[in-house]
Amino acid sequence: MTAPQAIVYKLYDVDDPTQFYVGSTNYGKRARLSTHKCNCVGDVKNPLLYQYFQRVGVNNMMMETLESMTFTTKEALLWRERHWYDELRPPLNAQRPILSEDERYADLQAKRARYYAKKKDDVEFRAKRLEYSREHAEERKDAAAVYYKDHKQQFLDRLARIVECETCGKSMRYGSLSEHRKKMHPQPL
Ligand SMILES: [Zn+2]
Repeated sequence: MTAPQAIVYKLYDVDDPTQFYVGSTNYGKRARLSTHKCNCVGDVKNPLLYQYFQRVGVNNMMMETLESMTFTTKEALLWRERHWYDELRPPLNAQRPILSEDERYADLQAKRARYYAKKKDDVEFRAKRLEYSREHAEERKDAAAVYYKDHKQQFLDRLARIVECETCGKSMRYGSLSEHRKKMHPQPL
C-alpha cells in the first residue's frame, strides 16, 4: 500500500488567473475539483470563492497543484496550506486556513476591543458590565489561576523574549515593556 498523499492547490479563473483560491485536500485532486464545482450551485460556505465562480461560470475553474506531500495529519496539511496562503495572498480566501494559539488570542482581543469601542458611550451597557464584573470576580480569579497553571511555561517564555520598544528601539524583556512604555513614553489622556 502506498502512503496516503495530500496536496495544496490553487483554484483559479482560467480567464483571469489573478483571481484564485488556495486550498488543500487528501482526497485527490479530481475529487476535490468536482466538489468545488458542485458547491457553487448549492450552499455557500466560502462566499468569496463561490460568488466569484457563480458569476464567471464554474467551467472557468482550473486547479493547479502547488505542493504534494505524504498525508500525516489534517493540522500539518493546514499549516502547509497556510504557508502558501501567506506566500500568495489569495484574493478569494475569506480567512486564514489555520491559526496559531497566539493569533487566535490576538484576534479575540481585537474583536473584544472593537466591541467595547462601539459600546463605550452606552451608559446602561457599562453599568451592567461593571455589575457583572463585580458579581463574578471570584470565579474569574479561580479561572485565571487554573489557566495560568496550565500555561505557565508559555507565559514565562513570552515574558523572557527579547523585544524592541517600538518607540525608542531599546531592547528589553517583553515582561518589562509595558512598564518601560508607561515610564518613558507616557500617553496623553
Ligand atoms: Zn521606548
